[in-house]
Order: sequence, then structure tokens, then C-alpha cells
Amino acid sequence: MTERSAAARTTTGPADPLDLLELGGSLSDEERQIRDVVRRLVDDRVRPHVAAWYEDGRAPVRELATEFGKLGLLGMHLTGYGCAGSSAVAYGLACQELEAGDSGIRSLVSVQGSLAMYAIWRYGSEEQKHRWLPSMATGAAIGCFGLTEADHGSDPAGMVTRARRDGSDWVLTGGKMWITNAPVADVAVVWARAAADGDDAGRVLGFVVPMDAPGVTAREIRRKLSLRASSTGEIVLDDVRLPADARLPEAVGLKAPLSCLTEARHGIVWGALGAARDCLATALTYAGTRHQFGRPLAGFQLTQAKLADMVLELQKGQLLALHLGRLADRGALRSEQVSMGKLNNVREALTIARQCRTILGANGVSGEYPVLRHANNLESVLTYEGTSEVHQLIIGQRLTGVNAFG
Ligand code: FAD
Repeated sequence: MTERSAAARTTTGPADPLDLLELGGSLSDEERQIRDVVRRLVDDRVRPHVAAWYEDGRAPVRELATEFGKLGLLGMHLTGYGCAGSSAVAYGLACQELEAGDSGIRSLVSVQGSLAMYAIWRYGSEEQKHRWLPSMATGAAIGCFGLTEADHGSDPAGMVTRARRDGSDWVLTGGKMWITNAPVADVAVVWARAAADGDDAGRVLGFVVPMDAPGVTAREIRRKLSLRASSTGEIVLDDVRLPADARLPEAVGLKAPLSCLTEARHGIVWGALGAARDCLATALTYAGTRHQFGRPLAGFQLTQAKLADMVLELQKGQLLALHLGRLADRGALRSEQVSMGKLNNVREALTIARQCRTILGANGVSGEYPVLRHANNLESVLTYEGTSEVHQLIIGQRLTGVNAFG
């Protein structure tokens, strides 16, 4: 036996028990550093309080945004205009750590950076970028992204919010529903269909709408049983008059908001596994200390089978996320690949969260432990940014060449 293989046999295993594949070793020093900094931030600023925020149904969004801004987490994968310009993998790792705290906290960062800021960064004028991106990067200005309507979710092409020209102005009428950050936002990127009679007739256009513009109202959606440490609202647009330069000049057609969703879905591919990892870490500790029938739960074969299957799915998901992140960093990531990641990783994260819940028994339904909070949050994550069925249809269309949506 060579010295090298003997050493490999006697290794004591990875430092992180939930990283049996030692995926951490595939990260660059900078990526590991970002992961660790965000993990510490979550440990200090989120974990001690998040159960109470969840119970109260509100989180200190502004305060958190300022702290996240100081660390450069808002729009961190964008370049210029005060954004950090980090890699897609580094952004994904940050999402994973944030969501290990709570999916609502990760949603705050995703909506700010990947939806609102990305839309302005990708489709905005230089003036719009300079006006909004630096303050959104620091967290001084909070953004939201209004695509979904009460009657048009999976099929945003059916939107009824209208934009009509009046002289050089635009006038927006309609409403958006289920909009993350809307009640606390300073600015909304709103998608509306141009009225049938003007330029760009009938096309979906994007607008940068200050939330204090006359005719804009945002109402908090109450009684959510999921993503409670996140602010979600309805936006009412009652003849909102905007100057011509409020329109995102490069955004024409539904492909513009859909490209923003692809951007945000990449963060979810990573983020959902953070919630799953936190559940698994909790269940592992619990199984080691809770005794029934004279031995720890961890000593039962059935418990070990659950734990083994869960770590397998967690790490398969992490491998997938890393692969997609590396593709993104090479500029080679396609939307159906992101759909594969979102579909698999959120579905598996939810399965892991529910399975961990069983290991905790009655304590699994208590807010003293994070597991059911994560599971409940993941129900929203499963639905937003394209439901599982929508992602199956995207993948199915790519496989068969047949559009089965309508
Ligand atoms: P529907 O589209 O009505 O779908 C209901 C069910 O029917 C789903 O299971 C769906 O998969 C299925 N279905 C629909 N069409 C088909 C089909 N063709 N074939 C098979 N099955 C189908 N939106 C924003 O714009 N901005 C936000 O910031 C935002 N934040 C959100 C935050 C939270 C907490 C939640 C819950 C939602 C948020 N959303 C946001 C909205 C979210 O994107 C939508 O809920 C989602 O797109 C699904 O739309 P829907 O709820 O109208 O469901």
C-alpha cells in the first residue's frame, strides 16, 4: 500500500459533517471567504431573532438591508454602480447562507438584487442606473418587482395592468399582487402591457415607479402562513402618471421580465438548500441527544436511513448548484438549466425539511426549532419564481420541442 492511499484510508472525514463530499474544497479562497462572512452575519443578526420575526409576521427589512448593503450583498453579482461584481457562485453561496437563516431573509436579498436591481441594470438607461443602483446597493433604497397579478400568476402574459401614452407621459393603471418588499419599498419595477393604440402597442414594457408617486398604494398581505419574516404586498396603480424616462428603454416584451426571473431563480437553486441544510443540521443534533427505547434516535437504523438519504439529496443538489453557478460564470447558463436546478433543489429541500420534522417528533412543530418554519417557507419558494409545474413544462418543452403550457 502506498503512503498516499494509507493516509486516505485513515482520514477522519471532512470538518463539516454535512459536507461528506467535501464540496467546500471545490471553492476558491474568495468564495469560501464570502460564504463564511455571510454565515457569521446570519449567526449574529438573523438566527437569534428570526423565530420572533416569523411569529410576529414582520422583519426589520430596512435595518437588515443596510447591514447587507454594508457587506456588499445587494446586487453583489452585478458590476458597476456601487455593486460588488462577485461571481455567480459567490452569490449562490451567499444565498445558501442567508436561507439557512430564513427563506424570507434570502428573498429580501434576491428581490433587491436579482429582480429589481438586475432589471434596472440590464434594461435601464444610464440615468436610471445612476439614480437607483448605488442607493439600492447600500440598502438605502429598497426595491420590489411587480409582475404577478391577482388573476395572472403562472401566465403573466395575461396581465391586465396597462400603460398608455398621454403626451410624452405614461399612465399606468392596474395592480400587482404577492409582491415581496412592496410595503416597504422606495421603488418598484412594474411590468405593464402597452395600450393597443400607441407606440409598442400591446407589448409588455417595464417602468421604474417611485412608490411615493401619486396613485401608487401598497398594502401588506396579512395572514400568510409562510415566509412570515418577509414583507409581501399588493400594489394598486390608479392612473399613475410617469414621465417618459420612467420606462426601461431596453425592455420590450415578456422576455425582459422572464430574464429577470432566470436571474433570481439561480439564487433560489442555492438558497433552498441552505434551508434544507439547517433542517438537517438540527435533526442530526436532535437525533444524537434524544433518547427513546433506551438509545439515541440516531442509533436506530430507520433514522440513519432518513439521514443518509437526506444528506445524499442535499449534496446532489449542491453539486447541481455548483455546476450551474460555474456555467453562469462562464456566461453559458441557459434558462432550462436553471429550471432543472429550481425544480430539483426546491422540491428536495422541502422533502428534507418535512423528513427532518418527523425526526423531531412533537418538537418538530415548535417554533423553538427552525424546521417547520423552513418547511412552511419552502412552500412559497416552491411556488414563486415559477411553480414546479411551470419548470416541468419548460424542461418538457426543451426535451420534446412541444409547448404544453396552454
Ligand atoms: P397559479 O398560476 O394560479 O397556479 C396555481 C397552480 O396551477 C400551480 O400549481 C401551478 O403550477 C398550476 N398551473 C398553472 N398553470 C399551469 C399549466 N399550464 N399546467 C399545469 N399546471 C399549471 N410575484 C412577483 O411578481 N413579485 C414578487 O416579488 C413575488 N413575491 C412572492 C412572494 C410570495 C410569498 C409568494 C407566495 C408569491 C410571490 N410572487 C411574486 C408571486 C408568484 O410568483 C406566483 O404566486 C407564482 O407565479 C404562481 O402564480 P399563482 O399563485 O397565481 O398560481
